[in-house]
Formats: sequence, C-alpha cells, structure tokens
Amino acid sequence: MKETIKSDIRRLSKDALEMLMKENNWPRYRADQIWEWVWTKQRVTFDQFKNLPKDLVGFLETNFTILPVTVDKVQKSIDGTIKSRMKLFDDHLVESVLIPVQNDKRFTVCVSSQVGCSLSCAFCATGQMKRMRNLDASEIYDQVALVNKQCLETYDHPLTNIVYMGMGEPLLNYANVLSSIDHISSPKGLGMSPRRITVSTVGIAKMIRKLADDKVRFNLALSLHAADDVKRSTIMPINEQNNLSTLMDALTYFHKTTGNRISYEYIAFDNFNDTLEDAENLLKYCKLFPVRVNIIEYNNVSGVNFEKSKASRLDQFAKYLTQRGVMVTVRRSRGKDIDAACGQLANKG
Ligand code: SF4
Repeated sequence: MKETIKSDIRRLSKDALEMLMKENNWPRYRADQIWEWVWTKQRVTFDQFKNLPKDLVGFLETNFTILPVTVDKVQKSIDGTIKSRMKLFDDHLVESVLIPVQNDKRFTVCVSSQVGCSLSCAFCATGQMKRMRNLDASEIYDQVALVNKQCLETYDHPLTNIVYMGMGEPLLNYANVLSSIDHISSPKGLGMSPRRITVSTVGIAKMIRKLADDKVRFNLALSLHAADDVKRSTIMPINEQNNLSTLMDALTYFHKTTGNRISYEYIAFDNFNDTLEDAENLLKYCKLFPVRVNIIEYNNVSGVNFEKSKASRLDQFAKYLTQRGVMVTVRRSRGKDIDAACGQLANKG
C-alpha cells in the first residue's frame, strides 16, 4: 500500500491548529503548547512534547510530521563569513550565509527563499540553475534559527539582521516569505524586530504594491544594478515587464503607505554601469523618496562575461552621488573565497 505523505504540522496557522484541537475535542490551550514546541523550542519529534498527553502525541504522530532543515556542509571564509549548505526534507539544497561585522556587532544572515531561480539575471550563479520549488515558511525560519545558533557558537552573539537575498526571488514566494517573517518576528518565534529584516527583490511592481497594501513592517531593497531600461533589460529580463518607471511608481507607493526603509543594490560592472553618466541616471531615482544606495563589488561567476569595476572608478561613482546628498555605502565583497558573495550562491559545495 502506498504510504500517505504526512504534512508538516508547521504548515498550519495558529487558527487552523486551534480548530484542529477543537474538532478533536482537545482543549484550546493544547494548540498553544504545540505551537511553542515547534516554533519557540524548535523540537523536531512529537515525543519531545513533554507536557502533552500520550494520546495527543499519538494523534499528532499519526496525522502529521515535522520536516526540519539540516546543516549539510559548512565553509568558513578567511574574513569570517560562514556559508552553510542546508538540506531540505526532499534532499534539495539551498545556501545561507552568515556575514559578521564584529566591530559593529552586526551579524547578518542572508537566507534563500527558493530552490534555484526562474529569473535568469545575467550576472548570477543561482540564475543558471533551474527553479525547482518554493521554500516553505518553516524552511526559511529554520535557516535563520540554525544560523543564529551558529552565530552564538562562533561569535558569542545572536543574529542582528536578516536579509532575504540568497537563492531565489522572495516576491515569487510571497505567502511563505511573509509567513516566515511573521514567525521570525513573533515573540513565540525568534522575536526579531521586522525593522531588522530586509527583503530584496529584482522588482516585481505588482508585488511591491501588495507589500504596501499588506502593511508590512520590514525594509525593502531593490536590486537595481542599472538605471536605464535598455541596460537593465540586458542583464535582468524581468525588467521587460517591470520597467523602471513602473517600479519607481510602485516604490513611491510603498514608501507613502508604509514609511519603511528602501535601498537600492547596485553591483558595479566594469564599463557597463559604472560611468559618471550611469551615476547621473541613478541620481534621478534617488530623489523620489529617501533611499540608501549600496554599491556592491562584483564577484566573478563562471560563464559570465563581466568584470568588476576598478576601485578608482567605483570611488568616483560613489563620490558623484554622495556629493549630491545621496546616502551611499560601498560594499567590498565578503566570503568570495568560498563562493558566498552576492550572486555566487549555486550549491557548488
Ligand atoms: S539575482 Fe536573484 S532573481 Fe536574479 S537570478 Fe539570481 S537569485 Fe534569481
């Protein structure tokens, strides 16, 4: 007989769990207890739920399962960055990266939201993989919880920030991404403020508007990378349906509705998007709402014909913007030696 595949109990919302208890004649507080075991204490087998009666444990074992993410491989960079390859229940692999800035006591995890990616940005290693599936909210949550543990063990400090900038496009896995953030920021989950969470998108105007309508409390980063449509469409096919003017309208709406922080990510490619004319184009998009620009050093990805900008050019580019009142940070790459830097995640191992 074919075995029925049981569903992860963590797919249930709190309301659904309470309803399940009610329908099966268990008191409502049992839902609170189960919730705490799976989300706060992160136990992965039902027999560890010590305050539940045996018959309820049996009921859960018969009808549900828990499918935790496990750490499959860890690589540490000379600069302290740690890349973890995470294994999902169906043997798919995703990567999460811990980026420590010890002087600032800033410990950021970069998490993945999809296995692979469908968007084929020209500079990105993940884009060379096919999109296999979306991650569940619990699978995103587990990445954060596991890296938080790693951060405490290695740096004696908990995570301070989370960025959804790993494998995949978060806004194409909208419901799970939002649900994971609810769990991460809940006091019954990891209790991290949504203000310390940034979701990075290549720019899907309709979904940016939806974020605003859903009144999210986290920050948004747009992977801009070029400030004119022709160039941007060359490296990011998504720009053909979501051009810069549509995106700027959506971001303006997001800013007006939520007041949350917006930033632009801008990978500098030699002689492609790093001239003063490019900086001038970018400046136009920095005047619509308050925005911070993060200029990122490009990291080589095999099979990609881009070179990183020369340091002097990059500095000139940044100076052009700062002199005109734009908040700019130039990010030298982290974790390059272990392929953990921006755009390099591809389960190479
Ligand atoms: S940059 Fe992001 S959206 Fe583009 S291919 Fe890579 S993972 Fe996908």
